[in-house]
Amino acid sequence: MSLDTTPPLAETDVAVRTHHRTCPLCEAMCGLEILTVGDQVTRVRGDRNDVWSKGYLCPKGAALGHLHHDLDRVRVPMVREGEIWREVTWDEAFARCEELLAPIVHEHGIRAVTAYIGNPAVHNYSLSRYTGALAAIPRMPVIWSAGTVDQWPKNLACAEMFGNAWAIPIPDVPRTDLFIVMGANPHASQGSLLSCPDLLGEIDRIRERGGRTIVIDPRRTGTAERAEEWLPIYPGTDAAFLLAIVNVLDVDDLVDLGTLDGRVRGVEEVLDAARAFTPEGVADACGISSERIRRLAHEIASTPRAVVYGRIGLCNQQFGTLASWAVDVVNVLTGHLDVEGGAMFPRPAIATLSSTARRRGPVRVGRWHTRVRKAPEVLGQAPLSCLAEEIATPGEGRVRALITIAGNPVLSAPDAGRLDEALPMLDAMISVDNFLNETSRHAHVILPGLSSLEQPHCDEALWGFAVRSAVRWSPAIFPRNDRPAEWEILIRLGAILAGTAAADVDVAALDDVLFADRATRHGVVAADVIDTGGLRGPDRFADLAIRSSPWGDGYGARPGGLTLDKLRTEHPHGVDFGPMTPRIDEILRTASGDVELAHDLILDDLPRLHEFIARDRAGLVLIGRRHVRSNNSWMHNISVLVKGRDRCTLVVNPHDAVALGLIDGRRARVTSEAASIEATVEISDEIRPGVVSLPHGWGHDKAGTRLSIAREHAGVNANLLAPAHLLDVPSGNAAVNGIPVEVCAI
Ligand code: SF4
Repeated sequence: MSLDTTPPLAETDVAVRTHHRTCPLCEAMCGLEILTVGDQVTRVRGDRNDVWSKGYLCPKGAALGHLHHDLDRVRVPMVREGEIWREVTWDEAFARCEELLAPIVHEHGIRAVTAYIGNPAVHNYSLSRYTGALAAIPRMPVIWSAGTVDQWPKNLACAEMFGNAWAIPIPDVPRTDLFIVMGANPHASQGSLLSCPDLLGEIDRIRERGGRTIVIDPRRTGTAERAEEWLPIYPGTDAAFLLAIVNVLDVDDLVDLGTLDGRVRGVEEVLDAARAFTPEGVADACGISSERIRRLAHEIASTPRAVVYGRIGLCNQQFGTLASWAVDVVNVLTGHLDVEGGAMFPRPAIATLSSTARRRGPVRVGRWHTRVRKAPEVLGQAPLSCLAEEIATPGEGRVRALITIAGNPVLSAPDAGRLDEALPMLDAMISVDNFLNETSRHAHVILPGLSSLEQPHCDEALWGFAVRSAVRWSPAIFPRNDRPAEWEILIRLGAILAGTAAADVDVAALDDVLFADRATRHGVVAADVIDTGGLRGPDRFADLAIRSSPWGDGYGARPGGLTLDKLRTEHPHGVDFGPMTPRIDEILRTASGDVELAHDLILDDLPRLHEFIARDRAGLVLIGRRHVRSNNSWMHNISVLVKGRDRCTLVVNPHDAVALGLIDGRRARVTSEAASIEATVEISDEIRPGVVSLPHGWGHDKAGTRLSIAREHAGVNANLLAPAHLLDVPSGNAAVNGIPVEVCAI
């Protein structure tokens, strides 16, 4: 696939240069071929020679030049004085940060300061390594992230089952023959906690080899359109549906652990728990017949290469942990974990968090609680919906300073309106962000990072979720030496919070300390490698991770092995070491050393699920959605992506539309217990009855932003409707899907 949405420059005799680099926008990590003339991007297309993506790209990747050239992008640090923003030098900006932050730390301690890490940070080479540094240098005890909006249930389930929150099995899509997709829409988003380019193409290839794809989702998504079957499940019932599958596996004697026989504990407890979830008992609640549930259980059990994949729709609902856990319970009980074509653990060519984990033992939660709501931490984080009250509620321990990093929680947090009201109450707010958006407009200082084309790139974390052991490193296309990269900004902020005067921060020395700590965790003697090749910053970390991987040179222990230098000089289109291979013994970090299926933290949530299944379903519930031309809230200022018909519509089933008197193209009011908003109605049978859908990430109508295109396509913020208390209880993850709402015509 090749798209060109970048208007070419007028023909000139200036040389055209060709660059190869990774698209940093999603987990597909497509290899791009980018043509430039001078300092202008003239064309972006898929790199056909790329070993990973082989020429694929989507409309977002094709618009990367527009993102770089966006006139609204912040390129110079800015300080806010009242309502006025003033561009300042970097020295002035950091001095202002010190002026704001130092008194707070001095008077109230570092506990009064916190940070919010947005989703784009994981796609940014600088940020993905150094957000941890910002917290570690001043020993900031609490940080918040988008993780508790979109994935914490999966982390928790994997921590319990495999002993490592980041040991997340992914579907071996290129080799499966039965691909069951729940709560995910690769048509719009590619994979999530799954890196595989052109997932829709993979679905076609499954069909070509005689296999099938089944999408289980309240909405007939673009992925469902491409699949063999769509099962329109009722929101929030996925866990009950999967437990009914387990019930059938048990009753019909289909449990077969396959290669994991003898390596799995808790099977009987799980089968016991599933006895209360018969297909007949859950069918009405799920909206899927008991006969289809039974047949699906048999299909999964009898297909040698089958896999259940559940993603964001299973996480950000009221039963996120149960549903995310049950996905892998089914994979385990049918012998589809850690085998080809099933759910497998990637073996990245760049060693990641999952490959360096050392801990064995029980998962600890509740080591601290939030001040106001007393919500327990889970895996080190508390529900993001608590942040507003931690800022707004007076008293000892109030959050007084916030650093936001590549995030826009005013649009993406649950109960977003309360956070928007709380942020002006901060004594200090610093945003490390490239845009003056709905969140950063509240900041006192904005510290802009480089554009993705101005810095090197390597998706260190994401290769840990890839269907093949591949890796690619991309050089900067427009290198900048006159501005600090994000990693340097974060080290400086961390040092200021730790008490160093802004003018005295020694970034290089602190980077050495951070690197030495990481090297030790990789089992490398830091003193031997700290000056390797003159590398600094993320490049040095990437070199360490590559050389520590199974294909790395081990700093000389494996002569001829991969190094960062070899990767960038010899493999401009990436290097591929082949598909995933079974590796359960290397993965498991549980106390027993086996896969542990049964845990009180998870099973204790079953009574709540029982009560939910038995509940009356007369009203409407709201779910989210995403379009292929959108990426949460952060691609809406690009005209080629947002032009055309309004996409921020309320999708309503025709039966519900008739009952409610709604008319296609007219406005409706959507009301939850948290808020009331208006949206344009789109009547479609793509959504099942009883469910309405609004996309997330919109609502660009706030005063004080600098997003001229997004403002013209403002849409409404669906997250205003998410009540703060609506959570997945075990993980604390927000339930922004399945919100009870009322809808009326206006
Ligand atoms: S699929 Fe993802 S990585 Fe590939 S071009 Fe699109 S946004 Fe970029």
